[in-house]
Amino acid sequence: MLLTRFKLSYQLSSYWIFRSFIYLAIAIILGVLSKAIKKIHIRLIDDSLKSNFSGFYNITKLVSDLEKLNKEKQVYDLVFIHIINIDELRKYLDSNIFSQLINKEFESLQNEFHKSEIYSYSSDQYILVIKDNILDDRGIRNLVNHKIHQFVKSNSFDKYSVKFQIKCGIINSNVDNNPRRLIQKVRITSERGALTETSIYIFDKAYYERRQLYYEVSLSLETAITNDELSIVYQPIIDVNSKSICSCEALLRWDRGNGKKIAPNIFITVAEQTGLIVDVTKWLIRNTIINQQNWKMKEKMITQSINVSAKELIDDSFQNWLNEILKKNEMGYDNFNIEITERVLSTNDKRLKESLFSLQQKGCLIEIDDFGTGYNSLKLISTLPINVVKLDKFFIDNLHETKTKILIEYLIGAIHQLGSVVIAEGVETKQQFDTLVQLGCDKIQGFYFSKPLESDKFCLFCNDFDYSQY
Ligand code: C2E
Ligand code: MG
Ligand code: MG
Repeated sequence: MLLTRFKLSYQLSSYWIFRSFIYLAIAIILGVLSKAIKKIHIRLIDDSLKSNFSGFYNITKLVSDLEKLNKEKQVYDLVFIHIINIDELRKYLDSNIFSQLINKEFESLQNEFHKSEIYSYSSDQYILVIKDNILDDRGIRNLVNHKIHQFVKSNSFDKYSVKFQIKCGIINSNVDNNPRRLIQKVRITSERGALTETSIYIFDKAYYERRQLYYEVSLSLETAITNDELSIVYQPIIDVNSKSICSCEALLRWDRGNGKKIAPNIFITVAEQTGLIVDVTKWLIRNTIINQQNWKMKEKMITQSINVSAKELIDDSFQNWLNEILKKNEMGYDNFNIEITERVLSTNDKRLKESLFSLQQKGCLIEIDDFGTGYNSLKLISTLPINVVKLDKFFIDNLHETKTKILIEYLIGAIHQLGSVVIAEGVETKQQFDTLVQLGCDKIQGFYFSKPLESDKFCLFCNDFDYSQY
């Protein structure tokens, strides 16, 4: 009985020892496994933070690293490096070899700086973070310039020889404490200058703001047209000889609401660059026809000068559209004058010349705007079909100078001899007005008579106009 109890208790305790041993083994195995899984997990996460192409850390990792540096109050510089001839190089190199080459070259560039790290933005764009930099803007620019020029000289790799073309932007962490914004700013900085040259730029606030505005405007201009955010104002043009308002200039305004107004020379430039100018001008013509038909003028109908770009003039579909809309509204071409700025005119453009001739023959007066600001002013008036020359405000501002006065008198005489009429733009004072009349100028436009006015106010102004008051 005693023996049986002893056996039983022996069996029980060895059973528990065995069980504990098994548990321990399982715990050890689980521990090892979880460590291995953790390691794999970390590696997977780390791999997901690397570019497949170059093997460098990507932007997600850069942002988190920059956040850490910001927390530690470290100052650093970002150098955005854009390889602009990558597509050309790719044509001749195997993609595997190419990624190895990129990796090798950027690693050696990184080693050129004391404490730096390279990150991959995309396969052709990289960001170098330079820490502990004590150099000023000029110093860092010179340093990067020196290193980058070593980098872009011909590189031999395997049996291949490669030459990179690079555009760089540099920004200091003091510019913005938000890493994503800092990256965006340095990226935009690298886009300055001509497309095809190797160049290095330091962040410039004014340039960045211009680019941002351009971006904003190009995104919202199309909806502005459909949402009727645009409007038209009219500035009277006074005929000195008949002492009356002979015409007006239709000028666009863009009010984005909340008092946010965008100046026409900004959005017109964007519209010209993005091709939206055709829609903008069509909008203006459609609406200005409506306005003109609503004007209840005491006297004769007032012609309108419309600013158009060279792009529109050489576009046949635009001319056809103009023809249609005038016909539909029973309006003649002689209700409109076409203003084209001197800066975009070229005497060599055959299509433009033909288009101006054709509009002139249909009854439009052709006006050359901002005269004197381009580089071939005299050539233009002697070769293009010009009815009216609008002297730029620059000359009017300087009319008090004897030299400018002599020049204006000579220009007015020459333009008259060529059979064209002269309008002075930007006339602000009585003194300027009197001088221009004395010099033989035909027509005056400027704040001295009136600022550009909304349609109904312009109509009132015309009906109340009394030349003797000026
Ligand atoms: P622009 O065609 O030379 O128009 C004359 C500009 O001078 C207008 O500026 C007008 O408000 C301004 N101005 C007139 N008199 C005076 C004055 O006495 N003093 C001063 N300081 N300024 C005066 P705005 O309206 O800001 O237009 C600027 C430019 O934007 C225009 O220059 C034109 O190139 C462009 N623009 C405006 N509307 C249109 C449009 O409908 N189509 C196109 N393509 N361009 C337009
Ligand atoms: Mg104009
Ligand atoms: Mg002008």
